[in-house]
Amino acid sequence: MKKAASAVALLGSLALGAGLSAPALAGEGPNYGGNETVNTSILATYDELVTFLKDQDARQDAMTLEVIGQTVKGRDIHLVKYLTDPDNPTVLYVTQQHGNEQLTTEATMEFIRSLGTGKNAGLLEDVNILIVPMLNADGAMGDVNFSLEDYLAAGDRHLTRYNANEIDLNRDHVAQSQPETQALHSGVLAAYDIDYAVDLHHQGTDREADGRLVSGAILYPTSPTVDPAVVEGSKRLGAVVHDAVNSYGWGHVAQYDVGGSADTIARNGLASQYDIATLLFEMRGMSDHEDPSRVLGQKSNGYLIRQTVVTLEATARAIADGSIETADISVWDTMPVQQSRD
Ligand SMILES: [Zn+2]
Repeated sequence: MKKAASAVALLGSLALGAGLSAPALAGEGPNYGGNETVNTSILATYDELVTFLKDQDARQDAMTLEVIGQTVKGRDIHLVKYLTDPDNPTVLYVTQQHGNEQLTTEATMEFIRSLGTGKNAGLLEDVNILIVPMLNADGAMGDVNFSLEDYLAAGDRHLTRYNANEIDLNRDHVAQSQPETQALHSGVLAAYDIDYAVDLHHQGTDREADGRLVSGAILYPTSPTVDPAVVEGSKRLGAVVHDAVNSYGWGHVAQYDVGGSADTIARNGLASQYDIATLLFEMRGMSDHEDPSRVLGQKSNGYLIRQTVVTLEATARAIADGSIETADISVWDTMPVQQSRD
């Protein structure tokens, strides 16, 4: 309990720091280039996440916490549900399909907390929200059936992209061979009428656009099997994120450059299989990896967490107030495509 409490306190202090004006922390913003060693001990563990979710479930009347399945190693996979009105549009947020991309989960915890407060509780009158945090809990905890000895981060655990069977869950949305993807599909995607989904990831640190390192990159479904109307909804979702994040001085969102068109990827497969308007958001910098260019030091954690909170709040709000229906997709015509700095 004490450890969980300190993690929550840390999260709170990160979020507080992120709330300061951008110039005060400009040197540590998401465009900061440092690849210094990450200490993974500052990240919430799976157990700390579960403790947090159960605590919020007890505090928040509007929230329901459900177990939708188990990971390879037997960890419960949780779905956070805010289902106010079946006639409302529904949005799904998924974090950590890739276990080494954790700041999205830290931010999602902050968002869940905010849904129980005056700041964001009003949103729930007009939008249903589903959240699957840390889908790949085994990878996030480094509890896998292969070696992580080459991974770079310091701390009490390593984090890896793959699940315990060394499968990339974000290439498993057609075969659904793994318990984590099966839980997501049977317990969430096929079980609810979902209109929009944001799939939250982290990418390497070296991507730039217009000569500046990006804070993140976004992409809509590019599979030829997706209904054009769903693609358009996805582009509207992306326009909301782009405009919201770039309204901050530290925000620099580009178009993702290496997104494949296969339906095995959630961005494509969820749109193709369920007609969900989907958006991939790749935050800058991973929590752990073998490759130093992928790992971002901790000095910009506050901004990256803030960027995710902005993404969650802005999309939920635009769906709730209907402004997403008129979001301007022409932003995709002018948004630069990111490229490698080298
Ligand atoms: Zn990823």
